[in-house]
Amino acid sequence: MEDCVFCAMRKGEVPCTKLYSDDDFMIIKDINPQAKVHLIAIPSEHVPYIDMMTEEGASLLGKIMSKISHMQEELDITGGYRLVINQGENANQTMAHVVIHILGGEKLQDL
Ligand SMILES: [Zn+2]
Repeated sequence: MEDCVFCAMRKGEVPCTKLYSDDDFMIIKDINPQAKVHLIAIPSEHVPYIDMMTEEGASLLGKIMSKISHMQEELDITGGYRLVINQGENANQTMAHVVIHILGGEKLQDL
């Protein structure tokens, strides 16, 4: 998808620090952290909004969540973490590419 910063990062056209990367997704640090650890898991497939997600795309998200759960040590989120997906304006989704925010590294506020 053109003009998508996350896709451009994936292709190496926009610099970023990848903490992890494989064929399914990559993980970078959020530039505006909302917790001590705030990472973004960016699926390789460009899907703008969660409400446009196919079952196949949802399956990929599930796979990514499972991988995250096995990476707690290296992501510094042992002791608990929160996964967040924003949808649309009210949720302040700033980029039209579905990502999973990973928050942790400290005691988070109740939802
Ligand atoms: Zn994209």
